Amino acid sequence: MKIKFDRYYKYDELTKIVHEWAAAYPTLCQLDVLGKSYEERDIWVLTITNQATGAHDEKPAYWVDGNIHATELSASTAALYLANMLLTQYGEDERVTYTLDTRTFYIVPRLNPDGAEWALADVPRFIRSSTKPYPRQDQLDGLHQSDVDGDGRILQMRVRDPNGNWKPHADIPQMLVPREPDDLPGGEYYRLLPEGEIQNFDGVTIKRAPSLQGLDLNRNFPVFWTPKQTSGGTYAGSEPEPRATIDWVTSHKNITGGTSFHTFSGVHLRPPTKGADSELPTGDLRTYKKLGDKAMEMTGYPAISVFHEFAYDPKTQIKGTFDDWLYEYVGVYAWTTEIWSVQKQAGIEDYKFIEWWGYHPREDDVKIFRWFEETVSADFYVDWYEFDHPQLGKVELGGWDILHTWRNPPLELLEKEVAPLADFCLFSCLISPKLELHSTDVQSDGEIHRIRLVVQNTGYLPTNVTEQAQVMNVVNPLEVDITIPEGTKLLLGEKKTFGGQLAGRDQKLQFAILSSDVTDNLAKFEWVVQAAAGTEFEITAKHDRAGTVRTTVTV
Ligand SMILES: [Zn+2]
Repeated sequence: MKIKFDRYYKYDELTKIVHEWAAAYPTLCQLDVLGKSYEERDIWVLTITNQATGAHDEKPAYWVDGNIHATELSASTAALYLANMLLTQYGEDERVTYTLDTRTFYIVPRLNPDGAEWALADVPRFIRSSTKPYPRQDQLDGLHQSDVDGDGRILQMRVRDPNGNWKPHADIPQMLVPREPDDLPGGEYYRLLPEGEIQNFDGVTIKRAPSLQGLDLNRNFPVFWTPKQTSGGTYAGSEPEPRATIDWVTSHKNITGGTSFHTFSGVHLRPPTKGADSELPTGDLRTYKKLGDKAMEMTGYPAISVFHEFAYDPKTQIKGTFDDWLYEYVGVYAWTTEIWSVQKQAGIEDYKFIEWWGYHPREDDVKIFRWFEETVSADFYVDWYEFDHPQLGKVELGGWDILHTWRNPPLELLEKEVAPLADFCLFSCLISPKLELHSTDVQSDGEIHRIRLVVQNTGYLPTNVTEQAQVMNVVNPLEVDITIPEGTKLLLGEKKTFGGQLAGRDQKLQFAILSSDVTDNLAKFEWVVQAAAGTEFEITAKHDRAGTVRTTVTV
């Protein structure tokens, strides 16, 4: 089965793809319903691991989701691309094979199927997230973005206005640029608006109406949630899509990290959003930065702190986001990966992600337009055409086809853009803690036997994954059970023994003269039993995040 990554899939097609995968790769891919969306669509979750080497939930796992925001369709593509890579490269690529033999992926290719379906409709509607009316049930007066001429695109409207803020660029006349502060009256100026209709137009004033669909599902997670942030829902976890995610993550304690795909900006965002980096536990910050450098190396996207470099308003922190919840309260490293940056494609390297929108050199606009002209064959910028608007009368529609230029990569560049992101997900899964058997040993004196078990963490990250997990008390210790068969006696030791956390390699010093490789990644357990020679003792070592090891010791 071959899936193409140069287009987006409507819900029915997506459903067909995930079912075909589950049927084609029965030993690698299990399909489940994460939950129901607001419009009662099944939200699909793929569990991808080699089932022959152990149950998915007895291996460390990595979470990936996409498209919680309605128009961020390439986020869904990135998740599908990853799933396809894992399924088709198993047995071909050594890293993929090893990862699926020892670890698990949980992949939700489209967390918000309702919103994406609106964006993909023949007459599309663009909303932030859920299709549920919120916080009001009635639509307020003003301009609502819509495909007013029904051509399948939502573009921009320009209206001639002697006091307009926009004017044609001198060299690229179809491109509008802001008027200079000292531009004299009398020029060709325009008012520039999103394509849409105006509810109860008074003939003069135009205000932007709040969207009837005012929810942002990525503000509904139970982390620093507050009713003050009105897009976050009525309470943390009130909406079905985040709630299903919360339920899955909390009932799969083997999850050791996660990536949420979003668009756009070409960055990997990381917590904390609550404040400066100095608020993170020192070890976690160091590891986050190392992982971020690897992310940059593999994908070309820098890894940045939301608080320091991506705040819309530095004085207001965003609350209730999924990656924040995963780090702060679940205690695993999480990323919000914002796919695609037009600016960077056009060679504008050193720009501020948020501030650029308010102010940037005029040459940037030219660079961007020329880059599209040279690189993209699709109709990225629609030449202005006349339209008889139901409220405004004669206007022109045209401009950027935002969905396929800025919001998402142009379709012809889509696969190239998302491919490296799958590699970083594979890396992120592969660095998880991993519990493995180190050795067993038996020393006997007649019917008395001393059994020794040593297990080890072979992963890069410690079994607790983050210090934050211990701060929040959300990670259980290593647990070892020995079965004591009938007719035998446990003389020393416990049937159930708790160990602590096993170190990984992430906090080790990285220059040889200071290295002191103590065995903090090992744990030793000993029992003294009385049993007839040949008796078998089953031992299970289990760590929620690092996996389960089973062994039988014969005395
Ligand atoms: Zn988003």
